[in-house]
Amino acid sequence: MIEVLRLGHRISRDKRISTHVALVARSFGASKIYYTGQKDGSYENSVERIVSEFGGNFSIEHVESYKKLFAGKTVVHLTMYGEDFLEVSDLKGDILIVVGGEKVPGEVYELADYNVGVTNQPHSEVAALGVFMDHLVKSSYPTFKDGKVRVKPSTKGKEFY
Ligand code: SAM
Repeated sequence: MIEVLRLGHRISRDKRISTHVALVARSFGASKIYYTGQKDGSYENSVERIVSEFGGNFSIEHVESYKKLFAGKTVVHLTMYGEDFLEVSDLKGDILIVVGGEKVPGEVYELADYNVGVTNQPHSEVAALGVFMDHLVKSSYPTFKDGKVRVKPSTKGKEFY
């Protein structure tokens, strides 16, 4: 099982990027996104609407404290200061991938099993999550056969099953 934790959501600044974090997590095979920071019904509705249209069992939950989520899981914190993501593979057990927001508490670096960088350059939590999850699942993605909307790959235009 793969889950994702988005730290420090701010309603005024992060709605779009936190939604993108959730969409990337779902599309690459995570089953849940947790988030800390401000509880945001609009963020939750956006994610739930995508799931109801495009399928899968992905869920979203706001949590006050992230520490209890770490128990019993392999925690991978994505940070530009971390070790090369290509060195971190074949992780065991349930995996929790942590992406930060504006300010990441120092203890996250200590509590994580792995601090992983996707390049050691500053970039986006959305991009870092996508690249790392692709590496983790070895480019094997869920198919979402229960989706009301199912896109059929096509070379031109838009096609659906
Ligand atoms: N200033 C924040 C801090 O205190 O670390 C980081 C802001 S950054 C835009 C937001 C998040 O994107 C980070 O917490 C991290 O999860 C992710 N991120 C940014 N660059 C990354 C990189 N090169 N590798 C992995 N994750 C990265």
